[in-house]
Order: sequence, then C-alpha cells, then structure tokens
Amino acid sequence: MKIPFVTFLPMEKELNSDIREAFDRVFTRSWYIEGEEDEAFERAFAEYCGVKYCVGVGNGLDALMLALKALGIGEGDEVIVPSNTYIATALAVTYVGATPVFVEPDIRTFNINPELIDAAVNEHTKAIMPVHLYGQACDMDLIMSIANKHGLKVVEDCAQAHGATYKGKKVGTFGDAAGFSFYPGKNLGALGDAGATVTNNKELADKIRALGNYGSDYKYHHIYKGNNSRLDELQAAFLVAKLPHLDKMNVERRRIAQLYTEGIRNPKVITPFVPDYSVPVWHIYGIRCKERDALEKHLNDKGIGTNKHYPIPIHLQDCYKDMNIPKGALPIAEEISATELSIPMYFGMTDEEIQYVIDSINEF
Ligand SMILES: *Cc1c(COP(=O)(O)O)cnc(C)c1O
Repeated sequence: MKIPFVTFLPMEKELNSDIREAFDRVFTRSWYIEGEEDEAFERAFAEYCGVKYCVGVGNGLDALMLALKALGIGEGDEVIVPSNTYIATALAVTYVGATPVFVEPDIRTFNINPELIDAAVNEHTKAIMPVHLYGQACDMDLIMSIANKHGLKVVEDCAQAHGATYKGKKVGTFGDAAGFSFYPGKNLGALGDAGATVTNNKELADKIRALGNYGSDYKYHHIYKGNNSRLDELQAAFLVAKLPHLDKMNVERRRIAQLYTEGIRNPKVITPFVPDYSVPVWHIYGIRCKERDALEKHLNDKGIGTNKHYPIPIHLQDCYKDMNIPKGALPIAEEISATELSIPMYFGMTDEEIQYVIDSINEF
C-alpha cells in the first residue's frame, strides 16, 4: 500500500464545485485586491474564531510580524518564543528588529512550558508568543497570568491551530492578537500564500491593516512606512468557500488521531499527550521514538510517507548562528528534533490506510 504523508486530493474532490464557483465570482467581477471577498472572509473568520476583528494579510509570517510591529515591538526588545516551533515564529520577531528568547517546551505536549517563562523575563521583555503547535492549545490561563504579572503583550501563533480550543474557547482569542497562516497545507489552507491577524482591539486591527497596505489609512495618504501584505480577492474567495468545511475536516483529523492513539501499541513509541484543557485539531500527529530514523525508514519502506517537525531546532539553524546558542543549551527542543516523527494525517484517509499505518508502526 502507498500512503502519502499528505494529499489534498480527497479534499479537492469534496470542494471542487465550491472552489470553481469562487474563482468565477472573482473573475467575473474583475476586481482582485481589497474587495468584497476579503471583507466577507474577514467577517466570517472573525466570527468563526469568536473575535471582533480579522485583518487578511499575505501570509502567516506577516500576520505575526505585523501584529508585533503594530504593538510597538522593535529594536532593543525581547520576545519570548518556544524553542520548538516552525522558524517563522522566531523570524517574525527578528524582522521587527527585536530578539527572540527561546523557552523550552513541555516534552509531553510539545508546547512552551509556562513554568519556565518567568525565568526568561527581564526589563527588555515586551511580549510572549505562544505557539499552539501541531494544532494543540498551549496552557493559556498560565501564560496570560504570567503576561499580566509582568505587563507583557501576547501574540498567539495559531498557524497550525485553526479551530483548536482551550477550555472550550478557540485559540487566538486569549492574547492581544493572533496570527493565522492559510498556507495550502494548514488545516484551513488557501490555494497559495495567505494569512490573517485576529484581535479584539480596533485600534490594533486598523494599524495592522494600514501597515500591510503601505502604511496607508486611506488612498495615497501614508501614516506609517508600511509594507505590502494583503489578502488578495482570489485567495479570500477560496477561503470563503473552504471555511464552512473546516470543522468537518478537523473532526475527521480527530477521528484519525483517536484511532492512532488507541491502535499504536509499540513500547518503543510515544503517542501524543492531550491535556484535559485541550481539544486539538491535529495539524500534525507527532509520535516520538528513540530509534526515530530507523522507524522512519521502516515506514518509508512500507510505502508510508513521513515528515519531521522539525529536524533542526531554530537555535542550531545557520541563520541564527549569531545568537551563539550552543548545542545542548536547549535540550528538550533538541530531544524533540531527534525523536519526533510525523505520520500521515489528512482529510479523506480511509480506515484501511489508518490501520496499515498503525500495524506498520506496531511491527517495528
Ligand atoms: C506555517 C507557520 C507559520 C508561517 O506561515 P506562512 O503562511 O508559511 O508564512 C508560522 N508559524 C507556524 C507555527 C507555522 O506552522
């Protein structure tokens, strides 16, 4: 049997007519930037998340970067980020001129360990960026209480967590702002690059919108030295078409995850831990294994696609050599890098395929 790590085919079959209709709508209107599709998506996504404002932007990195910028974070400031995340989280901080400060995750949840945040705070610290990694909520009560105690801003990185909840409330609603990515492979994906920042703060939303539109509050009037990062009409229309299907697709991911967690019975393999407060959306189903590379080869040989999230931790990437963080300094992130293996997870996986993955892992 051949099982890819991810395929969009079953989803595309399901959404075929909706997507074509969305394209026709935009093409017929002949209006491509800043229009009714963008407005419609922003309204619908804000409502979906349970926040007042949504600002469509060009991608997830910009969604985070513009939020930090709008909050006034820049040179000389420090922002706390998890040591185990996609590099975009740290790059958003770097791009505004601030310094990312890495805090280790809890190895059971893969998410930032709130108990370690206090020790990383100093007089330069301005914000915390929790990442709801692999689609599982961080412990937001603890993180918000630490942020409030020190007067820090909170920008949630929700790029992998569309629809995930913490104590029944959607992620992206706890901090000052939250960034979402609609990269095609995300739980809610466009047919290209796209992103959005959500917030309950009108002033912040207006500033983010202006910053992503050449710093302009109205045409040819520039109040900031902004950049160009907008959600175009075609991508917005595709997202309008896909959003109503998101919950159903997340439910499907949960079903696959549950079968994995119940079915994987190999003492060499650790399946993901889900705390009581969290209902994950399983952007990634990551198992851990000391013999990760051998397990990966075993699965690949059986025709099963896999991935690693992430094979090199951010502090050991070439681009962050200037931070001089030696190997061994962030042992939990390094341990996850060395042991995590992501197994197939996509809408439309059949029971037979799920069982084949489970059996293949159990026979390792
Ligand atoms: C994908 C991702 C981003 C960046 O999103 P893009 O749309 O690719 O710019 C940021 N943070 C995390 C955790 C991500 O997974």
